[in-house]
Amino acid sequence: MATANPIIATASKHDKLRQLGIISLNGMFDEMDAEGVLRQAVEDLLPGDIAMVSSFGADSAVLLHVVSRVDPSVPVYFLETGKHFPETLEYVEMLKSQLGLTNVIALHPDSTDLKRFDPEGTLWENDPDSCCHIRKTEPLEQVLEGFGGWVTGRKRFQTAERGVLPHFELTSDDRIKVNPLAYFTHADIDAYKVAHGLPDHPLYERGYKSIGCAPCTSAVAEGEDPRAGRWRGRDKRECGIHFDFNGSIAKPVSQSSLTLFKDGAFKADPWRVWADDDVVANVRYAHVPLSVFVENRDGFLASPHPVGLLVNPGEKVEDIAQDLGRFSSIAINFPAFTDGRGYSSARLLRERYGYEGELRAVGDVLTDQIPFMRRCGIDAFVVSSAPTRAALEKDALAEVSRYYQPVGSRAEIPAGTRPFLRRNPN
Ligand code: SF4
Repeated sequence: MATANPIIATASKHDKLRQLGIISLNGMFDEMDAEGVLRQAVEDLLPGDIAMVSSFGADSAVLLHVVSRVDPSVPVYFLETGKHFPETLEYVEMLKSQLGLTNVIALHPDSTDLKRFDPEGTLWENDPDSCCHIRKTEPLEQVLEGFGGWVTGRKRFQTAERGVLPHFELTSDDRIKVNPLAYFTHADIDAYKVAHGLPDHPLYERGYKSIGCAPCTSAVAEGEDPRAGRWRGRDKRECGIHFDFNGSIAKPVSQSSLTLFKDGAFKADPWRVWADDDVVANVRYAHVPLSVFVENRDGFLASPHPVGLLVNPGEKVEDIAQDLGRFSSIAINFPAFTDGRGYSSARLLRERYGYEGELRAVGDVLTDQIPFMRRCGIDAFVVSSAPTRAALEKDALAEVSRYYQPVGSRAEIPAGTRPFLRRNPN
């Protein structure tokens, strides 16, 4: 049985993982169900050295149930911010008792910090980022160091970036993230709850589909995004307790700081640009310049981490055509309005080489370019221009309705051509 043992991971455990290799580990347990994956982590890979954080919110019961079946003494940390709904605190007790969890540990904010920075308990009203930092991030950071592995409830269906989420990840600080629910779909979650008689959070039926602290959570309407009720009307999306893509606690994100426009909205961007001191074997969620990838191809192909590609003007995508499956995202650089070479790269990737992952435009991305970029298969835009940002937010971009150069399908008929001169689409 695992015990709450906040000891820094021993070298031998991680040596074992390195020897095994995270890739082969994922291969071996790819077909295994959530319980089998977690059992492997808890009993063999990281005994006594793994924990999870749970919000005991609307989606928490499934993973807690899996944990309870593997080992109910695995430490489960609950951020007791002092601002929860009474129903959430009841739910903690309900799940503890129903699932037999014996090691749920409440993490409280530091009382000196509260006295100093939030003596009235109203910091959330005017500075929610600082409130989350004191009540969530800081208490959690203190226990993070103590474990060699963490169980997360992340799932592939949640975001495009998580579409390749494996069961096991090695973070840049040499910790293991275990994602037992990685392959679960929405339907799987619902079916699991029914099959195991798991209770919903008491507020779920009243329209609270994503549940955090009481002052910052409201019910959502039918069809509304489940997270729309979090910090409603405020320029804030995340609470700061999520692990970022490198394994550390993510910083709070404000809506106005988001520059990636994708699927109709500005959203948090997991990708960054490659830095000169990045190490091929460890880098993750970075767009690697095409020339760097070609030089270090073997190393990137051997790495288990998600990597992207940056294509600068004049670089030949033909050079990496055979490796396109390696990239979860490709960024095409448009350094100037007058430089159109990126459009050709995008079309080659989509049309000739069949690349289906995220294709984003970076650089000098302006309003007038976006409709043409979309026609070439670009589906995400990193935008810094304020007018472009406003146009995207209002969905006020013109579509291209007349064109001289067909793209994608040869069924497109260029404007101005005579019917008998049109190419046969077949
Ligand atoms: S969610 Fe709201 S009340 Fe809770 S810690 Fe963050 S700002 Fe404070």
